[in-house]
Amino acid sequence: MSYLEELAGKVKAKNSNEPEFLQAVEEVLESLVPVLEKNHDIIKYKVLDRLVEPERQIMFRVPWIDEKGDINVNRGYRVQFNSAIGPYKGGLRFHPTVNLSIMKFLGFEQTFKNSLTGLPIGGGKGGSDFDPKGKTDLEVMNFCISFMTELQRHIGHYVDVPAGDIGVGAREIGYLYGQYKRILNSFEPDVLTGKGLTYGGSLVRKEATGYGILYFINEMMNHHGHSLENKKVVISGSGNVALYACKKAQEFGAKVIAMSDSTGFIVDENGIDFEKMRLLKEVQRKRISEYADMIPTAVYTEGRGLWNIKCDIAIPCASQNDIDVHEAQVLIDNGCIAVGEGANMPTTNEAVKLLLDNNILIAPAKAANAGGVATSALEMAQNSARMSWSFEQVDNTLKDIMKNIFKNSKNAAEEFNSPGNYIKGANIAGFMKVADAMISYGMN
Ligand code: NDP
Repeated sequence: MSYLEELAGKVKAKNSNEPEFLQAVEEVLESLVPVLEKNHDIIKYKVLDRLVEPERQIMFRVPWIDEKGDINVNRGYRVQFNSAIGPYKGGLRFHPTVNLSIMKFLGFEQTFKNSLTGLPIGGGKGGSDFDPKGKTDLEVMNFCISFMTELQRHIGHYVDVPAGDIGVGAREIGYLYGQYKRILNSFEPDVLTGKGLTYGGSLVRKEATGYGILYFINEMMNHHGHSLENKKVVISGSGNVALYACKKAQEFGAKVIAMSDSTGFIVDENGIDFEKMRLLKEVQRKRISEYADMIPTAVYTEGRGLWNIKCDIAIPCASQNDIDVHEAQVLIDNGCIAVGEGANMPTTNEAVKLLLDNNILIAPAKAANAGGVATSALEMAQNSARMSWSFEQVDNTLKDIMKNIFKNSKNAAEEFNSPGNYIKGANIAGFMKVADAMISYGMN
């Protein structure tokens, strides 16, 4: 049995009730086979044995009071996965499906993603099974205050710097930072990113993940002789990432014809009206079905089925395992040429294999959606320098970072005999820097 097979077996045995975590580890270990053949220190220093174990995982009780005066209890998490190259950094997810497996898969992937940005940030993730949907502002605030009352013991600008993710946007970050500041009696904006612009937030942070995905897809398409001009695009989700992926895709000349939320999807062959969609989702927090009430050419369908719509480029920006093997086959049959992963792990490992076997280009999540965390690191840099950069300055830096991530993923894929396999390339490029730092530290 090879070293990697043995390790995969140990990880499986230890974490048998964590399917998402096992899926993320399996994908990475597979990518690293050729790296281990060349670099024996990785085995000697047990880098991978250490890397698959979070440095620390914190679970805590979050009691909060609703509008009726009743006490509710949720579970809070922070998984501090790896601090080899910088303080733990990664978002907070508030969604009823949150559990330890999901927190660990996200924290594990974040370690590689953050390394790919070229910036000094380690990997972490956190959140709660609290569902902000349908809650009043007061309820969300009560929850955030209680969540931060515990979380503040575990974070700090040199320790761990959370941000947003599903269910955590500017409103939640505001409540969380307000409570942090109050408890510590100290204004330390670089402890949390995604803040409002009036108290230390960065221009472009809101747009960064979506824009970054399109910058990566554009590089990848150009490298393979394609362009985004006039391409039909389908995007899943209609939250922060999906919205700004839509905007940038349109700026590149593509036509976004469908978007979704967790209850259904809308299709408009004339192209989505970005501003109307943004107002509906970002400002009014309404369901996507109401878009079809406003736009006569848009059709709403309840349930799944988004990936049956014929498109050139599919950009999943909702949640994990959004595209399974069946949906991948439909995309292939419909002539899709590229999948850009906006969400984390949106494609099952089997679907990835099928897509690659059919020469579909894949912009992998760890690389393609790294623009969000990269811009968070730029927000931290501005905070510690007591400076605010212009929109153009941040956007240009983001573009450069995404171009570099593409180049490094491409080069690593080529060096390890898998040209065009950006999943393997991103995993290897992200891994090398973390591994090198871990070897330098000896054992910790
Ligand atoms: P938001 O909460 O802003 O939006 C999430 C969107 O996805 C909503 O439209 C939501 O629909 C939909 N969705 C969520 N869960 C499901 C589900 N189980 N099935 C179908 N639809 C679902 O989150 P973000 O846009 O911030 O995040 C989207 C993805 O991007 C996540 O995978 C996240 O980890 C990833 N990501 C986010 C970054 C960021 O900067 N925000 C950075 C890097 C990655 P509904 O409203 O009905 O729930």
